[in-house]
Amino acid sequence: MSFNVDEDYKLLIGGEWVPTSARYDIIDPNTTEVVGHAPEASVQQANDAASAAKGALKSWRATPMAERCALLGKAADLLARRLPALAPLVQAETGSTINVAETMQLPACLERFNYYRNPQDVDEPLKPYALGATALGPAGLQNAMVYRQPVGVVACITPYNFPITNIAGKIAPALAMGNTVIIKPAPQDPLAVIRFVEILDEVGFPPGVINLIVGSGPDAGSALVDSKLVNMISFTGSSLIGTRIIEQGGKTMKRNLMELGGKGALIMTADCNVANAVTAIASVWAFHSGQICTAPTRVIVHRSIYQQTVDRLVAAAKALKVGDARERDTLVGPLVTKTQRDRVVALIERGVAEGATVAVGGDVPDRVGYFVNPTLLVDVKPDDFVVQEEFFGPVVVIVPFDDEDEAVDIANNSDYGLFSYVWCGDLGRGLSIARQLESGNVAVNGVQSHPQAPFGGFKMSGVGRDRGVFGLHAYSEVQAVNWPAV
Ligand code: NAD
Repeated sequence: MSFNVDEDYKLLIGGEWVPTSARYDIIDPNTTEVVGHAPEASVQQANDAASAAKGALKSWRATPMAERCALLGKAADLLARRLPALAPLVQAETGSTINVAETMQLPACLERFNYYRNPQDVDEPLKPYALGATALGPAGLQNAMVYRQPVGVVACITPYNFPITNIAGKIAPALAMGNTVIIKPAPQDPLAVIRFVEILDEVGFPPGVINLIVGSGPDAGSALVDSKLVNMISFTGSSLIGTRIIEQGGKTMKRNLMELGGKGALIMTADCNVANAVTAIASVWAFHSGQICTAPTRVIVHRSIYQQTVDRLVAAAKALKVGDARERDTLVGPLVTKTQRDRVVALIERGVAEGATVAVGGDVPDRVGYFVNPTLLVDVKPDDFVVQEEFFGPVVVIVPFDDEDEAVDIANNSDYGLFSYVWCGDLGRGLSIARQLESGNVAVNGVQSHPQAPFGGFKMSGVGRDRGVFGLHAYSEVQAVNWPAV
C-alpha cells in the first residue's frame, strides 16, 4: 500500500485548500479496511464554491481558447508523470482490480485531457442571405455568425465506478470551452479525485476556475443544483437521481448533460461467432464486476445457439478468478460497498423467486469483502424485472429469439438505451440491425468504441452527448450574431 491512511484531504474553493469540520471514512471494499478520511463539505462550502466559480468566470471565458487548452496540455503532461502513483489509492477506494485501475481508469483519464489540449474552431459562419425589403429595413444581404459560448459555471457530479476518469471527461471539455467548474465526486471514493485536483492546482489554473467539494450524502451536491450561480449540471449517475436533478434544477433553468443508467443489450444472430461473443459478455464479470454503465448485461440470442451460448458462458464464469483485487491474476473484484453488494444479491434472489434459474453464481464467495460471484440467469422472459432492471453488478441475463425482427423488439423493450451490441456473421446485416436499436451507442462484433465518438443515451439513459468535439458542444451555448452586409 503506497498511500497514508492518515493523510489530510481538503476541499478546493476559490484557489484555497479549505479544511472541513467533519470527515468520514472511506472503506476498501476488498479488505473492508479504512483507506482514508474524506472531508465533509457543508452546504455553505458548496455555495462558497459556486460563488468562487462565478467570480472566476469573466476572466476565464475571456482567456483565448489556445491559452486555456495550453493549460490543459500542461496538466496532461504533469498527469502523465504523476497519475501512475495514484493507482494503489484508486484500486483501494474503488475496489477495482489493480489491472483495471492501472490500464483502464488512469489511461482513460489522461486520454481525456490530452484530446482537449488542442484548441478547435467551433464557430461557424452562415452563408449570406438575400433579405427582401421589410418594415425593419431595406433589401440587402444579411450575415450571421454562429458562435459557441461557454455555458458558465458547471457543477460536475459523478458516480463511484471510475472516479477520476468520469471527472476528467467532464472538466477537460468544460474548461477548454471557457466554463468554470465545481467538482463533486461520488461519496464512496473521492480520495484520488482530491489528489488529482491537487495535481491540476499545481499547473496554474486561475483561482476559482476549478473548485472541489466532497460529501458523504446528497446535501452538498443538491445545494449546487439549487444554486442560481450554477448554470449547468453535468451529471453521470443513476437515472433515478438524474431525474431528480432535472426536476430540481428546472426551477433555475439548468442546462443538463445527463449520462445515466444502462442495461446493454447484446444480440447474437444465428451465424455469429459464438466464442467471441461469449468473451465479450464475460467482460460484464471481469471488468469492474459489472459496475459499468455500458456493460452487455442483457444477452438476446438466436434460439439455435442458445444452449451452446449458455454452456460456454457457464464455463467462462467458472474460469474467472474471483478474489483479492490487488493480485494481478484476479479478474473479479468486489462491489464498491456492502450496500451495493447486498442490493445485487437481493435482486438475484427476487429474480429467482419470480422464476429465473441461476445457471452459474448467484451467491457470494466465502471471503472478506463485498463480492458477488459471476452470475448468469436463464429461464427469463423479456418483460421480467431481471431483464429490465439495472443491477450494476456481475449479473448477466439471457433471452432467446426466433427471428431478427423479434431480437430488435426485445432489445428496444427497455427504459434504457445507452450502449448496445450486435454480434453477426455478416457485417452488413449487423450494421443494419445496429441502426434499428434505440441506443445512443452500438458496437458491432466488438466491445470497444472510438474515443471521440459521441457518447450518451436514448430514453432513460440520458440527455446530451459528450467526448470529442461533441464534448465542446455539450459545454456551450449557441449564440447567433447578425449584421448587414455593406
Ligand atoms: P448515483 O446516482 O447514486 O450517484 C451519482 C452522484 O449523484 C453521486 O456523486 C451522488 O453523491 C450524487 N447525488 C445523489 N443524490 C443527489 C442529489 N439529490 N443532488 C445532487 N447530487 C446527488 O449513482 P452511483 O451509484 O454512484 O453510480 C451508478 C450509476 O451510474 C448507474 O446507474 C450507472 O449506470 C451510472 N453510470 C452511468 C454512466 C454513463 O456514462 N452513462 C457512467 C457510469 C455510471
